[in-house]
Amino acid sequence: MTIQEILTAHRPLANAPDDTVCACDSTWRPNAEYRAHLSEVLEKHMREREAQLRQLVRDMTDPGACWFDHHGGCQEHGYLDLKPGEQCPHTEAKQLLGDEPNGR
Ligand SMILES: [Zn+2]
Ligand SMILES: [Zn+2]
Repeated sequence: MTIQEILTAHRPLANAPDDTVCACDSTWRPNAEYRAHLSEVLEKHMREREAQLRQLVRDMTDPGACWFDHHGGCQEHGYLDLKPGEQCPHTEAKQLLGDEPNGR
């Protein structure tokens, strides 16, 4: 589901000065509650997407340590054209997954 589809599914069907009807359940809510409801839906979507991407990065990351040649390229993972200051993507991925020991 895209953000656009989520916003369509939860669009305001009707507005009163202090209340809004959400399209998902045709229920009146105080405006603050409607915003909280929409935030909750979007946050859930983002958590699910992040979990999906983390799983994918985890699966695609090689557990082996980088091994650099004298040109600074990572021989272990085949990234031979790293510029000064660039990291091997496998190291970057492990940092991204940092809260998981050994990237898992
Ligand atoms: Zn809704
Ligand atoms: Zn590497």
